[in-house]
Amino acid sequence: MKIVAVLYPGGDAAKEQPGLLGCVENELGLRQWLESQGHTYIVTHDKDGQDSELDRNLPDTDILISTPFHPAYLTPERFQKAKKLKLAVTSGVGSDHIHLDSAREHGVTVVECTGSNVVSVAETAVMSILVLIKNYIPAHQQIVEGGWKVSEIAKRAYDLEDKVVGTVGAGRIGFRILQRLKPFQCKKLLYFDYQQLAPELEKEVGVERVESFEDFLSQCDIITINCPLYDTTKGLFDEKALSKMKKGAYIVNTARGAIVDREALVKAVNSGHIAGYAGDVWDVQPAPQDHPWRTMPNNGMTPHYSGTTLDAQRRYAQGTKASEILEAFFQGNPFKPQDVIVHGGKVASASYGEKKLA
Ligand code: NAD
Repeated sequence: MKIVAVLYPGGDAAKEQPGLLGCVENELGLRQWLESQGHTYIVTHDKDGQDSELDRNLPDTDILISTPFHPAYLTPERFQKAKKLKLAVTSGVGSDHIHLDSAREHGVTVVECTGSNVVSVAETAVMSILVLIKNYIPAHQQIVEGGWKVSEIAKRAYDLEDKVVGTVGAGRIGFRILQRLKPFQCKKLLYFDYQQLAPELEKEVGVERVESFEDFLSQCDIITINCPLYDTTKGLFDEKALSKMKKGAYIVNTARGAIVDREALVKAVNSGHIAGYAGDVWDVQPAPQDHPWRTMPNNGMTPHYSGTTLDAQRRYAQGTKASEILEAFFQGNPFKPQDVIVHGGKVASASYGEKKLA
């Protein structure tokens, strides 16, 4: 079979750190294993435009592997070209770069390495909440630049204790964030999700479910976004939703950039209605040089890396290969049910919207 992997370029970092498995140079550690079984393995970072290496290889690709960090956008047009495609693997979590309705129509199975980096992301989300409310970035910048003006930093620095923190989506990442927030003794922990947590889990972290999105928005001092990106969540945080949030509230988004409307956010942050925004996900990746989130005030943005720590890479590389996704596929065994997003012309995951389940 022909297997194509689209991964980010590793450069010097790949030579320094062999554990950087998710890059082009280190190939998810799959080459020897795949070639020893007679498969052809093409690895590239060249993914954009009709003349990209990805597009040139699509017509006879059987399996496409990609990561959310450097996503190979599998559009309806690309599905038309990929006549032999049977399996699209997300090495990581979040398959929104794949047009799932086209996958259904073309009978392509979509699987991901569920859970492989959820701790990595939950830790980053908690860190980002603290970075924003403690006003850490300008404080550190002041020191690097030789300054010392406590008042300039302290005028926007707060404690997490006694604040209301809410998560949109209380799945694997959202719940782990709640677990990690519990010891901070927040005033309230809230969640908004059409899937209700088991009562014992709600009790474990002391979280309350809010059924109305507007009610949820109006209560939170800090919102962390942890749902997948799909038609219903695209632009969920638009001008209207942002205006319903408390003045001076913060947003941390490590889910997907396009859940937040690009221009509406810039306006809300510039006006001070939103006090700060942090995350590592962008509406297109790599983010263009002139993306306004790079330079808007009070941002704690980074490149998309929270789910690709060295620990996470070890887990998602393993999840892609042996005894898991590819091995199951080659041997004709079923995938782990939690890894399956689309199969047999149906969306199999419960996380991509209530109606999709039907
Ligand atoms: P999960 O499937 O365990 O949980 C997602 C939750 O979101 C589910 O409980 C689902 O019911 C809920 N949800 C779906 N639509 C919703 C809506 N409209 N409103 C409220 N809740 C909704 O997934 P997870 O492992 O927690 O990952 C969540 C997302 O985080 C992924 O889909 C991915 O986009 C993103 N992610 C980012 C990184 C990163 O590196 N930044 C890494 C992993 C995952």
